[in-house]
Amino acid sequence: MIEINTIKGMNEWTKSKKSEKLSVGFVPTMGFLHEGHLSLIERAKQETDLVVMSVFVNPLQFGEGEDFDDYPRDKQRDASLAEAHGVDVLFYPDVEEMYPTPLSVTLKVHQGVDVLCGGSRPGHFDGVATIVMKLLQIIEPEKAFFGMKDAQQVSVIKRMVTDFNLKIEIVAVEIVRDEDGLAKSSRNVNLSSSERAEATKIYQTLKQVKHKALDKHTSDIPGLERWTKNQLKSQLIEGEIDYVQILNFPELTMPTDYEGEMILAVAVYYERARLIDNITWHQRG
Ligand code: AMP
Repeated sequence: MIEINTIKGMNEWTKSKKSEKLSVGFVPTMGFLHEGHLSLIERAKQETDLVVMSVFVNPLQFGEGEDFDDYPRDKQRDASLAEAHGVDVLFYPDVEEMYPTPLSVTLKVHQGVDVLCGGSRPGHFDGVATIVMKLLQIIEPEKAFFGMKDAQQVSVIKRMVTDFNLKIEIVAVEIVRDEDGLAKSSRNVNLSSSERAEATKIYQTLKQVKHKALDKHTSDIPGLERWTKNQLKSQLIEGEIDYVQILNFPELTMPTDYEGEMILAVAVYYERARLIDNITWHQRG
């Protein structure tokens, strides 16, 4: 594995690999790698000749008072894990390299961002879209791999690719969980042990709702959302619910005809971490 820190260095690498007709898979991350990230690398290795992983904690997607400074970082650990899992290039730019001057043009996401994390974190997906667009331009991959853990991100990036006619395939990879069901997240290290134990209730509740939706075929979406909220409220002592929402996926619109791909997404605040999780299912009409 080689590490590249500059855009110029990355451009030169890309150019030489293109001339060799090798396909490139790209895995964007903010580092502090865990099995969720590693599953994206695995998938990229299956589908492309070479894998580039970026590690960049993007200030543009953090709002005021959010955990940009508190976000866990460990470059040595990330580099060893990436190398051990077969990454070919670790792209590790610093903030000055990516944003040498304040950007004069940024992307603004208009659809699908008044719900879920977009509703709680105004401007977050503008920052995500802007950095992903920059990274795609720099790395020029054939495919980019994103986790369904951040389902709204998958939805926004797919739309950006369509709207800007980008010649790239976006691959969505399923959520990797700890044995007790908690979705892997870099932020889990910022949970206290009692918060960590409690957080397992989130996925348990999501699974119960999916069963309710499928087995009972209920089309009472507000009722399902209310049930989820009550269930979480009764089980979470330290966590505070940010949102619970059922939407169509990937459109992220309110379900009117109750059929097709559905997503139930939740976010819960803990003292030093905000956790997100979701579950999807196919509802037959
Ligand atoms: P992050 O470093 O949190 O920005 O995540 C980088 C990529 O890894 C994103 O596409 C995430 O959706 C994905 N990811 C994070 N956690 C998981 C997980 N538990 N399972 C699958 N993918 C994940």
